[in-house]
Amino acid sequence: MAKIGINISTGSLQQKEMIVGIDLGTTNSLIAIIHPQDRNPVVLKEFSGNALVPSVIHFGNAHQISVGDEAIPFLLTEPQNTIFSVKRLMGKSYRDIQEKASFYTYKIIDDNSDSLVKIQVGEKFYSPIELSSFILKELKQRAEHILKTSVTKAVITVPAYFNDSQRQATRDAGKLAGLDVLRIVNEPTAASLAYGFGLKSDVNKTIAVYDLGGGTFDVSILSISGGIFEVLSTNGDTYLGGDDFDHAIVNYWMQQLNVSADELKNNKSLSQEFRLKAEEAKKYLSTQEVFDGKLKELNISLSKSEFEKLIHPFIEKTIASCKNALLDAGMEKNEMDEIIMVGGSTRIPFVKNQVEKFFGKPIHDNLNPDEVVALGAAIQADILAGNNKDFLLLDITPLSLGIETMGGLMDVLIPRNSKIPTKASRQYTTQKDGQSGIIISVFQGERDLVKDNRKLAEFSLTNIPAMPAGLPKIEILFLINSDGILNVNAKELRSGVEQTIEVKPQYGLTDEAVEKMLKDAIENAKEDIQTRALVEAKTEARQIVDVTVNFISKNNKILSEEEIQVTQQAITELEKLIETGNKDEIHSAIEKLNSISTPFAERVMDEAIGKAMKGKKV
Ligand code: ADP
Ligand code: MG
Repeated sequence: MAKIGINISTGSLQQKEMIVGIDLGTTNSLIAIIHPQDRNPVVLKEFSGNALVPSVIHFGNAHQISVGDEAIPFLLTEPQNTIFSVKRLMGKSYRDIQEKASFYTYKIIDDNSDSLVKIQVGEKFYSPIELSSFILKELKQRAEHILKTSVTKAVITVPAYFNDSQRQATRDAGKLAGLDVLRIVNEPTAASLAYGFGLKSDVNKTIAVYDLGGGTFDVSILSISGGIFEVLSTNGDTYLGGDDFDHAIVNYWMQQLNVSADELKNNKSLSQEFRLKAEEAKKYLSTQEVFDGKLKELNISLSKSEFEKLIHPFIEKTIASCKNALLDAGMEKNEMDEIIMVGGSTRIPFVKNQVEKFFGKPIHDNLNPDEVVALGAAIQADILAGNNKDFLLLDITPLSLGIETMGGLMDVLIPRNSKIPTKASRQYTTQKDGQSGIIISVFQGERDLVKDNRKLAEFSLTNIPAMPAGLPKIEILFLINSDGILNVNAKELRSGVEQTIEVKPQYGLTDEAVEKMLKDAIENAKEDIQTRALVEAKTEARQIVDVTVNFISKNNKILSEEEIQVTQQAITELEKLIETGNKDEIHSAIEKLNSISTPFAERVMDEAIGKAMKGKKV
């Protein structure tokens, strides 16, 4: 049973800190949690009732910031001070977005370099990370206001196609907003988690997630198997969404009313009126047959069938993306068990129909398309909090964890797919006499050489008292807690010298990166085994050379000239093979050196014992 604390001064229940799920969208953002009582995922709403926070930021004259609905009216009255679609700029350089620069009404610095873009508002410059952090701060404050508790930990979703720098940027935005981002989750994976929430953990399904938002479209094919959610492929268009439908309607009415493009361009308030009216009509037509309204005092109308004709080309494009996604996943459309609809624009009946027609089966639209990603993020957050044990993937380490040993080898302490929390330890020792410190490098990955894996951390254990090589007992302990956070502890057992660090194993690793690392490991397994054997042989050879050289220099008085010479020769031979030889050649050279030096060593030993015996009085 969980214990519940009561805060004596306020009388309120002391809640366990909540980890929130955040859908940081191009158009709208929202925040969700697992309800502490009924354990169901819910989005957080103010009393006014709307969970969606438009991803729009307005800067006032004194750079005071407003975010969300308040900022919307400024989109056209103060376009240069009002930032929208910042998500599209995350992790991008000006060169990346050059072609689409006219899309933005605010000033993007075009220094034409590969450095990350900056946005200029008045005399100030902002990075997309800072701008996104303003949205996240607003969401955090909202959540704190609604939950009446501080919110410092979050899971944030990103599109599956986001690369490392975009994910890193999102994570940094969270940090700037005062959030500890426990994990970055792919939007389609989050959507499938929300879908899979009620499912038994032993189901196997292949699903397509069709996400049509305000500015972007993407489709992903995922497999859910034994509680493991895996993205098989993803496809889409980063400039296709509900905004384009609004534009198409505006163009249609411009023709109806004989309004020229120039007139709209020069009259911003008229242009805003057109755009807002178009969006209103579009939404209205999701449930009604005909929209009637007024623009410039004139009657306008739009029927559902006219609207469908306008958006047909866009929907065709999304279907083409679906075909490509299936192709990449190596699957047929009839192999999809479920089609999950995500994003506000999938409310449009025509979109649903076309998607159903393509896949040849009814779509799954029981979930609220605006909320499903945020709800999935909340489920993921709950899993990270250790409250939900149904989904296996999220309770295991996706990649092996280990440390670097001699010759750059990966020594695995916790193999991949280990259930967490877990711990493992192993003992190591020093290579050199009197060595006072060792460097411990922590790696993640499946390859035998650390250079092919990902380095997570490096730290050193120092102040080891002087001891001959091989004598210190250094115990390395890996501990992963249920948040997926790795602690590494190194302790020299004879002296008690100790050092601990915390590492986040999944930091910045995308699902695709994990997948790629696994794939590489399988493809290279054979080569890796050979490399490992060679590295091990070389390491062994070097140690034997060291020991023998040491032995000769210590005992050169006892050994004959000739003995020293043959040993020296065998050493030189072995040294040459360390550089150029293969594993077998090195092994036989080691054996040869051993067979030469062992009798000498035995003789030296006998003499030493003899001397010791002589000195002793019996
Ligand atoms: P994003 O993921 O890009 O942040 P959303 O999923 O919130 O975007 O979708 C926003 C888009 O959905 C907007 O273009 C909006 O006009 C559209 N939309 C919202 N509700 C409806 C509706 N009932 N009918 C048609 N389109 C809608
Ligand atoms: Mg979205």
